[in-house]
Amino acid sequence: MARVLVLGGGISGHTAATFLKKWLGRSHEVVVVTPNSKWNWIPSNVWVGVGGMSREDVVFELAPVYKKAGIDYRQAKAISINPEGSATSALPFVSVEYTGTANAGSKEDITYDYLINATGPRLNFAATEGLGPDCGNTVSICTADHAVEAYEKLAQVIEEMKKGEKKKFLIGTGHGMCTCQGAAFEFTFNVEHKLKEAGVRDNAQITYISNEYELGDFGVGGMHLKMGGYITSGKVFAESLYTERGVRWITRAHVKKVSKGKIDYETLNGDMKEEEFDYAMLIPPFAGAGMKAYDKNGEDITSKIFNPGGFMFVDADYSKGAAPFEDYRAEDWPKYCQNQTYKNMFAVGIAFAPPHLISKPMKSPNGTPINPTPPRTGMPSAMMGKAVAYNIKDMIQKGATEPTHSARMSEMGAACVASAGKGFFSGSAAAMTMYPIVPDYQKYPDYGRDLNGTFGEIGLAGHWIKHFLHYSFLWKAKLKPFWTIIPE
Ligand SMILES: Cc1cc2nc3c(=O)[nH]c(=O)nc-3n(C[C@H](O)[C@H](O)[C@H](O)COP(=O)(O)OP(=O)(O)OC[C@H]3O[C@@H](n4cnc5c(N)ncnc54)[C@H](O)[C@@H]3O)c2cc1C
Repeated sequence: MARVLVLGGGISGHTAATFLKKWLGRSHEVVVVTPNSKWNWIPSNVWVGVGGMSREDVVFELAPVYKKAGIDYRQAKAISINPEGSATSALPFVSVEYTGTANAGSKEDITYDYLINATGPRLNFAATEGLGPDCGNTVSICTADHAVEAYEKLAQVIEEMKKGEKKKFLIGTGHGMCTCQGAAFEFTFNVEHKLKEAGVRDNAQITYISNEYELGDFGVGGMHLKMGGYITSGKVFAESLYTERGVRWITRAHVKKVSKGKIDYETLNGDMKEEEFDYAMLIPPFAGAGMKAYDKNGEDITSKIFNPGGFMFVDADYSKGAAPFEDYRAEDWPKYCQNQTYKNMFAVGIAFAPPHLISKPMKSPNGTPINPTPPRTGMPSAMMGKAVAYNIKDMIQKGATEPTHSARMSEMGAACVASAGKGFFSGSAAAMTMYPIVPDYQKYPDYGRDLNGTFGEIGLAGHWIKHFLHYSFLWKAKLKPFWTIIPE
């Protein structure tokens, strides 16, 4: 009997674990280690943040779902990996610390035959002084609890505006090395819509602040879209959305410090500026989970397994990290998400170390990097989880010595529906698809992407799709009937 250990029960880990258990049946074990008792459909946190959904609408208890599926669920967080085992046993293991109320703080070493690291992002608010809900200056929508608090504060500000007060809203990225601009973009438009609904839009100045070189970059180097038969740049698409809704924007910005009602930021040309706010939602930079790694003699091999940001090395070409942007190639991106030193170890979703940025690297004259880091959004994260599940299944059941299924971000497409206001008849959303996610200028010399698979549209239909996706992905994650036929 083989044991597959999955670290992280988020979008990529849950996908990998549930498919593996379905395919492997009772003959093999699937163990999931994840610190939270509830699963969160993170994309809908945007709606929780504007009061359009409740916390309960976007989370569910994991234990009953895993029990029904036959998955061994441990509410715990992984602390370290020993991929060679120890001096006394060659069996690799992960040291975990339990987080559930019954056994919080107790520790265990869990052995494995195959390991999937799907630990997602650590929200690194500490990278910017004063950033994040714990400091009390800015809110976040990165977790369901954060989003609940974001709405409580928003509702309070709206009440003050109803009495005639003018307010400044600042939404965007809280550091020069953030990813996830899409979430900030969506929240901006949902807040704008909410203020209109509340009848206080005229009392608000809304500003979007970002580390993107220009609007529409999204950490994927921007894109050209087919819209109504015309080719439009993502910059024009995004700028027109902001302009139509009267939203100001500041790009090329690294937020250095947040204090009560004010941020200090540096621009790409080295200027130091300030911006005031009454309400701010700023996304933090993401780091890896912060696990350590040890060899069989107990020597620290963390830097061999993880990059300095804590993301796990896989089969990418990391030699290109310091190469000029013009030398970046589609094939630098990992094909199988497989660690090359320990081939029974995989990393999927946000947990894998990208070979380099997708957007062009930029630095201010002061040496501050100001550029979006590569996004690994929900759809590619789930697709990586499923591909790795296939590979491990084939290794266990068919004795495959090499991976059989690939999930390379430069060979896969992604769809993204960014809500721009919730409401069955008044809502809207920007629906975008791109192929491939990482541009391939060798294959598509003009724009880096296949324009037959890269398009964008905004409207009410997009809002309905977003709603439909919310319910269908929760249905799938709860393993309800026919869950396997719902695409990732
Ligand atoms: C507000 C917001 C809106 C978004 N909207 C969209 C959208 O509309 N479309 C889209 O495609 N993407 C969206 N994304 C991005 C999407 O949520 C992520 O790309 C996706 O969740 C990444 O999947 P993952 O499995 O890598 O990480 P996650 O889904 O974050 O899962 C990681 C899991 O690992 C667990 N974990 C952490 N540390 C440890 C540890 N030490 N040991 C064990 N487990 C650990 C975590 O608790 C979590 O359960 C959004 C993100 C945010 C923040």
